[in-house]
Amino acid sequence: MSSTKKMKEKEFLMEYREKRDFKKTKEPFGASGKKKKEKIFVIQKHDASSLHYDLRIEVKGVLKSWAVPKNLSTDPSEKRLAVQTEDHPLEYADFEGVIPEDEYGGGKVIVWDAGTYEPITDGDEKNKSIEDALKDGKVKIWLKGKKIKGGYTLINTKSGKENHWLAIKIKDDEADARRNPTSTEPESVISGKKIEEIGEE
Ligand code: MN
Repeated sequence: MSSTKKMKEKEFLMEYREKRDFKKTKEPFGASGKKKKEKIFVIQKHDASSLHYDLRIEVKGVLKSWAVPKNLSTDPSEKRLAVQTEDHPLEYADFEGVIPEDEYGGGKVIVWDAGTYEPITDGDEKNKSIEDALKDGKVKIWLKGKKIKGGYTLINTKSGKENHWLAIKIKDDEADARRNPTSTEPESVISGKKIEEIGEE
C-alpha cells in the first residue's frame, strides 16, 4: 500500500469517528467503498441541543453533510442557512434512533426524507465535477425524495464563516411556495414515526 493511500484511509471519516464513542452510540462506524449506481441523499430530523435537519448527499463514498436549522424550503424565495458539518459514512443514511445524551449530537434522529440525487450540470457548472463544485462553494443538485423534489442550489456565503452555506430552491416544476412539508409531513419515511415517538429501543 502506498503511503498516500495509507494517509487517505487514516483520514477517512476521521473527524466523524473522533467525535463519537462507538461503544456508547448505535450510530455506524462506517466502512468504505459501498457504492451504488445512483447517488443517495437523506434529510434527517435531529432533536439535539437544538432541533435541526441534516441534509446529506453522497459524494465519493461519504455523505457530505449540512445542518439546516429550518430545513429545505419548497419556496424559491426562501434562503435557508445550511452549516456544513463533518462527512458521515454512507450507512448513516439509514440511521434512526437515539444518540445517548452525553454523546456528540445526543438526542433523537428520524429519517425525514430520503432518495437519490443527481448533480445539475448546466451553465457555468458544465463539465464540473461535484467535488470541484463543492470546493468552489456552489453546487446545484436535483433531489428525488418522497417529500423534497427538484433542483436546489447550495452556495457558500463566503462570509468568513467558511462552513456557512445557503440552500435555495431552484424555480422549476417542483417549486411550490404553498407547500410546507416540514410541518405538514413530520413523519419518518422509514418507520412512519414522528420524532417524539422514537424510543430508547
Ligand atoms: Mn445533526
